[in-house]
Amino acid sequence: MNKKFNNKIIFCPHFSVFNIQISVDEQEFNKGYKLFNDGKVKKITADFDGFHAIVSGTHDYSVSVNISDFERGVCNCYLGQKNILCKHMIALAIATVSKYNPENFKLIMSSLDHTVCSGQIREITKEELTAIKKELQHGLLYIKYYDGPSSKWFAYQDTLLKGGRLM
Ligand SMILES: [Zn+2]
Repeated sequence: MNKKFNNKIIFCPHFSVFNIQISVDEQEFNKGYKLFNDGKVKKITADFDGFHAIVSGTHDYSVSVNISDFERGVCNCYLGQKNILCKHMIALAIATVSKYNPENFKLIMSSLDHTVCSGQIREITKEELTAIKKELQHGLLYIKYYDGPSSKWFAYQDTLLKGGRLM
């Protein structure tokens, strides 16, 4: 999935900001996003293992995330040392999409956890229906028939949680 440009391999994260946003807690995502947005992710480098950077928080942390799965990462902060996905890894994951694959940089603007009913009752317009159908069709891309071994099935469920697809 890495792109080649002028005979140089460009390392491309296999995840989008959308993937990150739907797989982590909203609060954690916002903390990571803020670090990224405040320019706290510095000296980003990429190799076959993934992406590496220094993320400044209370201290400067040395952070790495895997090229295909940002949740497989390393950070020398308190949480990272316990093998818990921390805001520094999330910040780095977001920064790598921004740097190496900006076309996958799209945020979900409406909150996923706090959807509230407006209280209004009305019929939806034709345009809204078309938009909803389009969204559903897009969602269907993530659903796929499967009759393989169960170990793969569980891995598949995992990719569903991340909004990915079984390759
Ligand atoms: Zn950390």
